[in-house]
Amino acid sequence: MSDKILQSIFEFTKKYKDPEHNIPFDEKNSKIQIVSKNGNINISLSINEEYLNQYKKIADLFKDGLNKIEGVLSVNIALTSENQSPKNNNKSRFQIDAREIIAVASGKGGVGKSTFAVNLAVAMSQLGKKVGILDADIYGPSVPRMMGISGRPEASQNKKLIPLESYGIKCMSIGFLVSTDTPTIWRGPMVMKALEQMFNGVEWGKLDFLIIDLPPGTGDAQLTLAQSSKLSGSIIVSTPQDIALADARKGINMFKRVNVPIIGLVENMSFFICDSCNEKHYIFSNDGAKKEAEKFQIPFLGSLPIDKELRIQSDEGRPACIDKPDGSIAKNYLEIANSIFRKN
Ligand code: ADP
Repeated sequence: MSDKILQSIFEFTKKYKDPEHNIPFDEKNSKIQIVSKNGNINISLSINEEYLNQYKKIADLFKDGLNKIEGVLSVNIALTSENQSPKNNNKSRFQIDAREIIAVASGKGGVGKSTFAVNLAVAMSQLGKKVGILDADIYGPSVPRMMGISGRPEASQNKKLIPLESYGIKCMSIGFLVSTDTPTIWRGPMVMKALEQMFNGVEWGKLDFLIIDLPPGTGDAQLTLAQSSKLSGSIIVSTPQDIALADARKGINMFKRVNVPIIGLVENMSFFICDSCNEKHYIFSNDGAKKEAEKFQIPFLGSLPIDKELRIQSDEGRPACIDKPDGSIAKNYLEIANSIFRKN
């Protein structure tokens, strides 16, 4: 095993035995799985619920012992059992001291959800609010890159992670906690635990707005966050094509089912303004998302063009609202941020 920290962790865990089978928690034991990312340790113990109390004791001992290993910033331990119902997985309450928590969601990946989340956060901050952004997109955490962050979060004295700050916004990303090339088999319990840690295990301080960049789709992680993080509302980002809108509809229905208010629908990549003729070209369809919003009787928050400069700004870590605060795209984001304040 190449990771030195991982080796030290197994050195420690193998001193303890699985209460059910009496075998040590070493590298060969499939009941224990460990992901170590930048000093953040996520452990999954597959347990038999009959021995729950013993496993809990072991988890506490692991936590105490592993926190003392040099280079370890945080330790999360998820106890998972095969007959655990999804209901039980949602038990944890994600706590954060924010006046409003807004989830930015999409049905599909690649529609510009993160770009929107980042620029919305910047626009809100430019309008004088204390803002944090929590990147929960397990399939492609892109907030660090879009916010121009290359560092790693450090731990505070009470072992909480200190969010990294960029452009006056506190940022935390799932990319700091869970290895993105982790096999899918890890994903469920590990990701839930990591998501919980992004709330309770981070020194967020007092915020006016926390923007959550959700993973695309309507899976377990999205549902858990929607149910457990006391969302004030959600914003759905979609491109205008039918195929994207069909998936956006599923997102709208998910939030409705769990009683999270839908702040509105945003249409991204709505049109293209040609450099030569300066005309708007509706490449995909005209007003697809607007019509969808009307159909669902949810507010339509606005449309953003497909724009080469916006793509470059996002990918190079200079959100449009920072790079060209007086540009027409930044104005679109500010207008959307203002319309959200007016609704509150
Ligand atoms: P998602 O979060 O939905 O997966 P991203 O925000 O990561 O999508 O965007 C995917 C890609 O599209 C990124 O390279 C981003 O810079 C680009 N992009 C997003 N919105 C626009 C836009 N309006 N115009 C041009 N490129 C965009």
